[in-house]
Amino acid sequence: MNPKNRDALAQRVVKAAEAALAAQGYASSIDVLVGIGWLDAGKVEQWRRGQIDYLERVVQSNLPRISEAMKLFRSWAARRGLYASPTSYVARSPRRQTLRFSRSGDPTIEALYGTHWVSQELSERKRQRLAEKASRAPDLVVVQPLNREWKCHRCGKTGDLLMMENPGPACLGCVGLDDLEFLPAGDALLSRRAKAKSTRCAVVVRFSRTRRRYERQGLLVEPLALADAPSTFVDRPIPPDRSR
Ligand SMILES: [Zn+2]
Repeated sequence: MNPKNRDALAQRVVKAAEAALAAQGYASSIDVLVGIGWLDAGKVEQWRRGQIDYLERVVQSNLPRISEAMKLFRSWAARRGLYASPTSYVARSPRRQTLRFSRSGDPTIEALYGTHWVSQELSERKRQRLAEKASRAPDLVVVQPLNREWKCHRCGKTGDLLMMENPGPACLGCVGLDDLEFLPAGDALLSRRAKAKSTRCAVVVRFSRTRRRYERQGLLVEPLALADAPSTFVDRPIPPDRSR
């Protein structure tokens, strides 16, 4: 890359990284790639749902330029004296697989991509909370459809609940969540406990025509988690939740 192009790219990278840092207290590779216009936010969403095999595939630039941009991002972070926070990216899909950034899948490159650069102005506690939140697998979302005349794009059946996939709605049998039990919203403590105990879990939402938005109806959790949850919370007082 010639020095003039490199300078121009450096300016764009710094601008995108600074904006992310100001907005959320840290900057990630994805923030930069989206910020400089090489990566479409919709594609990131698809990748996060496990529908794109590796992120570099959908970055609108060639590998040498991407790696140059990432190098510029890291030298910006070093100049700013930011903390490196390794972050794992987990797919928002029933399989919960670790997401891949690079074509090669090389662990060193993956680690570089997954590093969030965190503001040193944040307290240790706040940095830790940010790191936990970033590494947490996003909730799966299951929809209670208003219209019952839908068909699973995989098997052609229908049902009370569906999960949106790229080609269309899928039934819970096909996404492997049909053994979960519904826990209606209302008891926040019970919900939190059951969710913590359930290795697989999904949030159930339904569209409200009057409020024109999706509203949380409850959770799908593993039957065992549901069986365990009430006794633990009846017997023992739970300290107030300070996690949020
Ligand atoms: Zn199906």
